[in-house]
Amino acid sequence: MDLYEYQGKATFARFGMPVPQGEVADSVEAAVAAAGRLGYPVVVKAQVLTGGRGKAGGVRLAAGEAELTEVAGAILGLDIKGHVVHRLWIEQASAIAREYYASFTLDRTAKDHLCMLSARGGMEIEELAETDPAAIVRRHVDPLTGFTAADAAAMVAEAGIDEAARDGVASILVDLWRCYDEGDADLVEINPLILTDGGRVVALDAKVTLDDSAAFRHPEWADYANLEALDHRERLAREKGLQYVGLDGTVGVIANGAGLAMSTCDVVQQVGGSPANFLDIGGGASAEVMANALQVIATDERVRSIFVNVFGGITRGEEVGKGIAQALQEVHLDAPIVVRLDGTNAEEGRAILEGLGSARLEQRPTMLEAARRAVELAGEAAR
Ligand code: GDP
Ligand code: MN
Repeated sequence: MDLYEYQGKATFARFGMPVPQGEVADSVEAAVAAAGRLGYPVVVKAQVLTGGRGKAGGVRLAAGEAELTEVAGAILGLDIKGHVVHRLWIEQASAIAREYYASFTLDRTAKDHLCMLSARGGMEIEELAETDPAAIVRRHVDPLTGFTAADAAAMVAEAGIDEAARDGVASILVDLWRCYDEGDADLVEINPLILTDGGRVVALDAKVTLDDSAAFRHPEWADYANLEALDHRERLAREKGLQYVGLDGTVGVIANGAGLAMSTCDVVQQVGGSPANFLDIGGGASAEVMANALQVIATDERVRSIFVNVFGGITRGEEVGKGIAQALQEVHLDAPIVVRLDGTNAEEGRAILEGLGSARLEQRPTMLEAARRAVELAGEAAR
């Protein structure tokens, strides 16, 4: 789950990092009231879940009330890379002397945590990595020993952080590691991390991605649920606890296990169709889970056929058969269903589905054949 900048900054503050003072505002009037409490000059920052807001005109200074009224009005409603601005973050303006970059993230290739630090912040890190890769200092972090003050001091020296900012940056790096590690984040990024004219080191921007798998131990994350960022199908799936990703196609896909769900999407594509979603119902495939899955897919107007691909392992085929049969009674579906059921006790499961005698439900013995039929039913030319 991605956090808005203001939520990221609140998280940083909880871990002891210095951030500018600010307030959220969702109207020009609220922005003016906030600035009255914070004191001018202020920075008006669009709260959208995308980067490059500065370049897009979503980050602007305002010296007084008249300018703030104009700036806040211009940013509210602005479309930044397809994200419409509904909320502003009004912040006490900082006098910037230098801009740095700092982050912790997961290096999936190295299967290790990675810290990156650069004395050349402000621009996008991808751009910096292309134009001047040597300007980014990298260090893997052993999860058992963590990131220490000594690691921070070494990185700060290696990155060539200005003398005046070294202690401040090193101390923030250690706090940022704790925020990443104890805070269960997949990414914490500060760009820019600044040295102010007054000699303070402050996190001027915040990008935080939380690890959704750790949500069970963070009841406080409920406040963050940025559900408005999801489309209605993903919101419904989230509410029902399903692993769901919405796609643009016409074949609804239900499979047990993430690997099988991905393969199912691939096969649909391979035979000339387009998956409407990725949906992993996990190992159980109980009637309730199956009904929930069908319900989410039924709300998708683009779906013209549904492909249920279940391979019984520990789950027995007759339970899957019963689950699908029961789910079909609970959920109204316009789209026809193609089922491929295999694995443990598949025969029994198929017999249960056969017994339904439903013209809307067809079975195919293999994944490929079932995919072809589902694509055909969706009205796409099957290969
Ligand atoms: P992003 O473009 O979405 O990454 O938004 P940032 O929060 O990083 O802001 C973009 C740029 O605006 C920063 O790199 C700064 O140069 C500038 N900026 C943001 N806040 C302030 C501020 O308080 N004072 C000044 N002078 N510039 C700021
Ligand atoms: Mn930034």
